Amino acid sequence: MRHVYVNGDFLPETEARVSIFDRGFLFADGVYEVTLVLDGKLVDFSGHMARLRRSLGELDMRFSLTEESLLAIHRELIERNEIGEGLVYLQVTRGAADRDFIFPQESTPNTVVLFTQKKAIVDSALAARGQHVVTLDDLRWRRCDIKTVQLLYPSMAKMQAKAQGADDAWLVKDGFITEGSSNNAYIVTTDGTIVTRDLSADILHGITREAVLHCASDLQLRIEERPFTVEEIENAAEAFSTSASGLVNPVVNINGKPIGVGKPGAITAHLRQIYVERSRASAI
Ligand code: PMP
Repeated sequence: MRHVYVNGDFLPETEARVSIFDRGFLFADGVYEVTLVLDGKLVDFSGHMARLRRSLGELDMRFSLTEESLLAIHRELIERNEIGEGLVYLQVTRGAADRDFIFPQESTPNTVVLFTQKKAIVDSALAARGQHVVTLDDLRWRRCDIKTVQLLYPSMAKMQAKAQGADDAWLVKDGFITEGSSNNAYIVTTDGTIVTRDLSADILHGITREAVLHCASDLQLRIEERPFTVEEIENAAEAFSTSASGLVNPVVNINGKPIGVGKPGAITAHLRQIYVERSRASAI
C-alpha cells in the first residue's frame, strides 16, 4: 500500500481524501510537476520547483509551501515508499470552493497532493526498441508553457497513437512539430546537428530538455533551437524525445516510415548515457 501526502498529512492511499468541490477536479485549475528519482534521490529538483513557481505565477495562484518543505515532503515519501527508482508526482490546485468561474477568495487554501510511482526508468524496453510515433494536430490551448493538469487532449492524442499501433503522438501546429504528447521532441540531422523547437508558449519548457541540451553542448554537438517539419524528421539520421519519465528516448519511426536506419541512433544513445550519469551525480 502506497503512502501519499495530502494537505499536511502522510496517509495510506486509501485514506486520502480531496473535496468534490476542488477546482482541480471541476476546472482543471491546478498545476503539477513530476520529478525523477534515481538511487533514491531527486533529479533536477530545484528546476522542477522553479517551473512550479512559474506555472503558479502565470495562473495567479498563491502557494505558501517553501521549496525546503516541499523537498522534505518529497524525501519523506521516497523513504516511506522505498523508492529506489521512479517518480514523485506533485499537484497543487487552487483549492475547494463553491463552483464559480471567478477565482475563490484569497484565503481559500490550496490542495496539495504528492504520490510516488516505483518504476524501472533507466532500464527500459521501449528505449531499447525505439518509439514509433504518429503526427497529430496540436489541438491544445495556447499556453502549453504552463504545466496545468488539463491533460485531456494529450491523453486523447496518446490514445489515437495507440489505436494506430504507435507508442506516442508528436503534435503539429502550422506545419511544424511542437512536442510529443508528454515530452519534448528532437531530430539529429545527417550532419549531426540536434534540432529542437525553441522555447515559447507552444511547448512545455522541459527540465530534461534543459539538462540534455547542456550535455549536448558539453559533447560539442551543434544545437539548433527552431521549429522543424515532418519532412525534416523523415530525412533525419535520428530522433528522440526527452522527459523526466522517459529520459532521452529514441524515436525510430514516424507515420510508418523508418527514421534513419530505423533503429535507436548512436548520438541518442550517447546522450541518454551521459544524461543518466549527470543525473545520478547531481541528484539530491
Ligand atoms: N512536454 C510536455 C507536454 C510534457 O507533458 C512533458 C512532461 N511532463 C515534457 C514536455 C517534458 O518535461 P520534463 O522534461 O520536465 O519532464
